[in-house]
Amino acid sequence: MTTALTPGTAELVTDLADGTILTADVAIVGTGAGGGAVAGELARAGLDVVMIEAGGPLAGSRPGAHIRNAFPAEAQLETHYGPEVWNSLTPYAGGKERFDAMRGALAIHSVGGMLSYWSHMCASPDVETETEPAIPAPSMRDLLERSRRLLWANLDIEAPGVRQHRVLAAVRQAFPGLPAGREVQQLPVAMQRTAAGPIEFAGIDALLTPGETGGAKPVRIVAGHPVRHVEPGRSAGSGATVTAGASGGSGRVQVQAATVVVAAGALGTPQLLHASGIRPAALGRYLTDHTQLVSRVKLRDDLLDGVPADDPTFSVWIPASSARPMHTQISRGWITSSPILADLPSWQTADIGQFTGVDPRPENRLVFDPVHLDGFGLPRVSVEFSLSRADRDRATEMFADHYRVAEAIADFGYALEASAMPAGTSLHLMGTHRMGSRDDGTSVTDSVGRVWGHDNLYLAGNGLISTRNAGNPTTNTVALGLRTADAILGRPTRDAS
Ligand SMILES: Cc1cc2nc3c(=O)[nH]c(=O)nc-3n(C[C@H](O)[C@H](O)[C@H](O)COP(=O)(O)OP(=O)(O)OC[C@H]3O[C@@H](n4cnc5c(N)ncnc54)[C@H](O)[C@@H]3O)c2cc1C
Repeated sequence: MTTALTPGTAELVTDLADGTILTADVAIVGTGAGGGAVAGELARAGLDVVMIEAGGPLAGSRPGAHIRNAFPAEAQLETHYGPEVWNSLTPYAGGKERFDAMRGALAIHSVGGMLSYWSHMCASPDVETETEPAIPAPSMRDLLERSRRLLWANLDIEAPGVRQHRVLAAVRQAFPGLPAGREVQQLPVAMQRTAAGPIEFAGIDALLTPGETGGAKPVRIVAGHPVRHVEPGRSAGSGATVTAGASGGSGRVQVQAATVVVAAGALGTPQLLHASGIRPAALGRYLTDHTQLVSRVKLRDDLLDGVPADDPTFSVWIPASSARPMHTQISRGWITSSPILADLPSWQTADIGQFTGVDPRPENRLVFDPVHLDGFGLPRVSVEFSLSRADRDRATEMFADHYRVAEAIADFGYALEASAMPAGTSLHLMGTHRMGSRDDGTSVTDSVGRVWGHDNLYLAGNGLISTRNAGNPTTNTVALGLRTADAILGRPTRDAS
């Protein structure tokens, strides 16, 4: 049985009998940002795509859509939306145990992956200092532009806001002289205004949009089926098989396809490859994260004076660059731990969120337990992770910088309680199946996401990102997914220009 998600975009395939074999041009494991980017682009080009997802469709929300669309009012951000997000996050594979070395790491297993819950901040990485060394700058700029368009990265909705204008001006004044293109600016948000009026936020429905050409085949999504084995076949054209089991049951489903893309998250992708006997030396290693510092402040009275009740939310960005190793976003958040500010009306507050990068080091890694299985029937994962001296020096610099940002906008009659969050809290784990330009043991894929030595096995998702970087990763991950889709479609790149 199939259920249409958004007409023409994707359909859920349910009630599959044990032993069902589906065929497709491309099988994609995981329905998050990485998988969604590849799937949408391939489907728009006319390929037949099946996605297999361990989690089920979201209850109470259109599958593939962002859950915030169900809570449209700003006032509901903290009362409804924030708690809903936190209640849906679990350590990986639906288990309860946190990783000792990364107590903040959490995941979501449902159709749309984390993209059904993300905060929609579309930071782009600095092409000079943060993007993949294996991808030439002209190609990367094109890919990032395509990614922003697909994600509905929008400036128009917030631009007229009074707080947007004043907070931006105040922060600009405090941080002059940054490199061209990386100055203080408005941060694009993945949202659009619908024809009916309300704003909607992007989930994988945005990535799977059929596009202007139409005629795309809807992507078929098999939910509630953790994939336990991938058999890529010997060469392109020889066919690949993906085997999944029904969650909580013994039913088995197979997808046979010419090409397989594993996009099961920064933990799930290396885990599945490992379970399938595909174990390049760098697999699961070079795990990176963003060290995170957050605070909520009350905005100064002059920034709040006369703000109308319908003032849109605001998003101000100090991008990471050669001048600053940290990403800074100032926006209206949906959760606070500050008892002092909790009583203030939320429109008077701003959340300062900062991330700084972690150096990729092979000893920061995932470990796979060959004996014990997790909730998906795969080898249980544990994490070995620590910050280097250089990582901690950057975090120290970020603390001082946080105070400077607060000075630009905050009413210091109230508290500034900056919290350094436990490792993993960024929910931006990266690097565990990193790309590279040579098969020298330090990378898992080439620069289009193809696993070294396997013609028809590609990887997508945050785990591909090989660099130390500081901004929210999704715009980058979607850009890399588009490059993978281009490669599968045999499209030329701009690498040589
Ligand atoms: C609350 C929150 C706020 C965020 N805010 C932002 C933001 O503002 N900006 C930003 O850029 N990023 C943000 N992020 C992070 C962003 O959502 C992720 O970077 C991105 O969505 C990761 O995509 P992915 O494809 O790598 O992984 P995922 O989204 O984790 O997708 C992987 C999918 O694979 C599935 N899977 C795993 N194992 C298997 C298996 N064996 N078989 C089948 N399926 C499997 C998982 O269930 C999951 O659905 C946020 C995340 C959260 C949760």
